[in-house]
Amino acid sequence: MFSLKGKNAVVTGAGSGIGQAIALAFAKQGARVDVLEINTEAAGETVEKIRSEGGEANAVECDVTRHDHVQEVFDKLGIDRGGLDCLINNAGIAHVGNITNTSEDDFDRVMSVNLKGVFNCLKGGVQQMLKSGGGSIVNIASTVATMAINDRLAYSTSKGGVLAMTYAVAKDHLHDKIRCNAIQPGRIHTPFVDGFIAKNYPDNQEEMFRKLSEYQPVGRMGKPEEVAAMAVFLCSDEASFITGSPFAVDGGTLYVR
Ligand code: NAP
Repeated sequence: MFSLKGKNAVVTGAGSGIGQAIALAFAKQGARVDVLEINTEAAGETVEKIRSEGGEANAVECDVTRHDHVQEVFDKLGIDRGGLDCLINNAGIAHVGNITNTSEDDFDRVMSVNLKGVFNCLKGGVQQMLKSGGGSIVNIASTVATMAINDRLAYSTSKGGVLAMTYAVAKDHLHDKIRCNAIQPGRIHTPFVDGFIAKNYPDNQEEMFRKLSEYQPVGRMGKPEEVAAMAVFLCSDEASFITGSPFAVDGGTLYVR
């Protein structure tokens, strides 16, 4: 079960954190993985890790915010690989702020990576899947797409949009054998979280780490591998009846507070 053998997968932002864990897990399950990253050094590290474990991977420089460039990347991958089976839209950035202190520039920047970046990759990815007769897409949203926490105005808005795009793509491509689902991770311990704590709470990092861990009903943060396992399942043939659904991987945050 859960084999991805023979499948071509693209994971965006796979140089770090959740994306890296997804790329490693996909390769372990037999997929050939293209690591799309703005950070080429980080992409190279992920590829090295995969190859050292006997998997197949390739690093591709890609800034998901650049529409035409993203299109070219997907067109080329479609030709080189002979199609696309799995697309994981994972690249994203954090932002802290409410409506009064979020600047227009900050709002635009968050939207451009977290929402337009997903739009750009969906466009490129769905075109390739239509050519190769179907596929599975997983968009990494967040618990804050459907619940409020303080000071995440722009970030939550972008993730709500990711969820809405998930439903739209699932509906539009129901009969094209393209499934599109979303994962709503709770707080997962990655460089994204460490960077957030260091930037916003430089003087009490340990206390903030403890507080953020205790926020999850299970009492800890998640691990990137725990999100990756859900992505593997959603792209496997065992998930063939699942489309247009959000899946919480959140230690109980959304439903068992
Ligand atoms: P991360 O460790 O910061 O990894 C994100 C990766 O995406 C980084 O390698 C980053 O490169 C890359 N990236 C940023 N902008 C990009 C762009 N324009 N084009 C291509 N790649 C780009 O983050 P993470 O914690 O693994 O988060 C991954 C996803 O999960 C994000 O969408 C995030 O919103 C979501 N999520 C995370 C959590 C959590 O608690 N960690 C919770 C819910 C949802 P640079 O390092 O160079 O910026």
